[in-house]
This record gives sequence, C-alpha cells and structure tokens, in this order.
Amino acid sequence: MGRSSKDKRDIYYRLAKEEGWRARSAFKLLQLDHEFNLFTGVNRAVDLCAAPGSWSQVLSREEKVEKGEGGEEVKIVAVDLQAMAPLPGVTQIQGDITKVSTAQEIIRHFEGQPADLVVCDGAPDVTGLHDVDEYIQAQLLLAALNITTHVLKPGGTFVAKIFRGKDVTLLYSQLKIFFSGVTCAKPRSSRNSSIEAFVVCQNYQPPEGYVPNMSNPLLDHSYDVDFNQLEGPNRVIVPFLACGDLSAFDSDRTYPLQLDAGKQYQYTPPTQPPIHPPYQQACHLRKNNLLSREDAPTDCKYTSFTTSGA
Ligand code: SAM
Repeated sequence: MGRSSKDKRDIYYRLAKEEGWRARSAFKLLQLDHEFNLFTGVNRAVDLCAAPGSWSQVLSREEKVEKGEGGEEVKIVAVDLQAMAPLPGVTQIQGDITKVSTAQEIIRHFEGQPADLVVCDGAPDVTGLHDVDEYIQAQLLLAALNITTHVLKPGGTFVAKIFRGKDVTLLYSQLKIFFSGVTCAKPRSSRNSSIEAFVVCQNYQPPEGYVPNMSNPLLDHSYDVDFNQLEGPNRVIVPFLACGDLSAFDSDRTYPLQLDAGKQYQYTPPTQPPIHPPYQQACHLRKNNLLSREDAPTDCKYTSFTTSGA
C-alpha cells in the first residue's frame, strides 16, 4: 500500500503526523481527558505500555498536565518492553509490566511517592484469533491493574484499554473491587469496528488489608463462576460512554486527502518511526521477491502478515 493511500484511509493517522504525535492513539487519550478531566492536579503519572510514546507526549505537553497543588514539578514515567525514542520530561523504563521489579523502579523514580494517574494503552501482538486476542488482552489489563495497585495513591485514577469481549463483565467486577467508579468509554478516534474501548477507573480504594501482589486472578481456579450468568445486584453494570466531540472526525469514515479547498495536500512522514519494526525484514524480502522462496532462511519466510490498529 502506497504512502498516500494509508493517509487517505485514516484521518486520525494523518492528523497525528500533522500535529506531531507519534501515534494516532494520542487522540484517544485527549478525547478521554476531554470527557473525564484526567490531568487536573496530577503531579506523578505513569504511562504503561508506552511505545512509541504518543500518550507520554500527551501527558508531557505542559498545557495538558496542569501543575498540581503548590506548583510541584510533574514527573512522568513511561514503561514498555520496547525501546522508545527519548521524550523531554519523561523518564523511560524498558521493562515488563508483569514484573514486580518494574513497579519498584517506578516507585524509585517517584522517590517513594505514589502516582496520581496510571494510564495503559497496552496491546499484545494480535493473532487474528478473536478468543485468543481477547484473552491475552484481558491478561495484560490485569497485569496493568496489578502493577497499578503497587504504585497508585488512594483516590487515584487508572485508565486502560479493554476489549469488550464476552468475558468483559468479569473484568469490570475485578476493577470494581479496587475503584468506586468504573466507566467504559469509547473515544471517537477509536474505530467503531474495533472491540477496543477504555476503562476509566476513578477513586482507587483497595479493599481493607489488601496487599498488592503480582498474582493473576484469572488463573486462580477458585474463579469458577461464569460472571456473565450473574443476575441482579451481583452483576456489575458499568456505564458505557461514547466520548469526544460528536462533530469530531469519524475514525471509520474515509475523508478526501484535501480537506481544505484550495490547500494542496502534502504528505507528512511519521513523527517517530519505529526503531526496530518487526515488519522491516518482511518488507525487504517482499521488495526483493524473496517471500516464498524455498531457499530463504526459515525464520524469514512470510506468506502473509497482518497489521493492526484501532
Ligand atoms: N500508547 C502508545 C502510544 O500512544 O504511543 C501505544 C501503545 S502500543 C498500542 C502497545 C504497547 O504495549 C507496545 O509498544 C508493546 O510493546 C507494549 N506491551 C505489550 N506487553 C507489554 C508488557 N508486558 N510490558 C510492557 N509493555 C508491553
């Protein structure tokens, strides 16, 4: 697919490049903030699964993270498995959010103080098998919740990507144990065709005596109840909210390249290209007509590959 055809397909992809965001997902956080006022009074924020860094960019743009009480300096820590190009005002940890050592490193950067806000746009590599993808996404959300319980202050806010699959009620129930307010929000920049949404969890209140740990509740066999079967007050109903200005661009629509009459369209290269993109080798093989050759090295044979992005 040529450069301009990708630009034609996605308005938020195009706008992200024009406005200097590293990824179109920046608009999702901006639209969530517009609805929930996430950044007011935030002095310490954590961006989990941050690469390539557009959510960290949103957090760090001064007008976005307003100065907290007493004009305290705002500290932002970004965590990802992958390397990320540096961003001013953001401390990076290249690490795994499922590890307690990562939680300890975050706390070290905050000099022992808890975070006011934790955001997580984490996504595992999509397999294309919906049940598997939903399950892995749920696991990542629980890992994000677990590490959040180590670093978030009581009363703090947690925002995370969620797939609204068939077991989503179980996830809502687990989040409701820790937060008094849980809302499922769908920003306008997140495609309707995607099951992606975001949980905005407000007022962190762990159960009395709760000791944070990195165990995984979904793998705990005492959870043998199908939460979707629960009725009445036992079933947690989380409000669902479509957010972002209704007159904003629709992420499922195709827009002409030339939005302003009389203004010539100009291609904008990505703000921060990936450092070691896994598709680089496949592109090289395809360009050189080596994709299906028997003599290609076994780890380089690609018959098809998919791209994802919500
Ligand atoms: N919010 C980012 C932005 O706006 O630029 C985009 C995040 S991208 C959709 C998802 C990221 O999750 C990937 O960079 C991936 O490396 C990261 N990730 C997945 N599993 C992780 C884990 N266990 N620990 C840390 N990062 C993880």
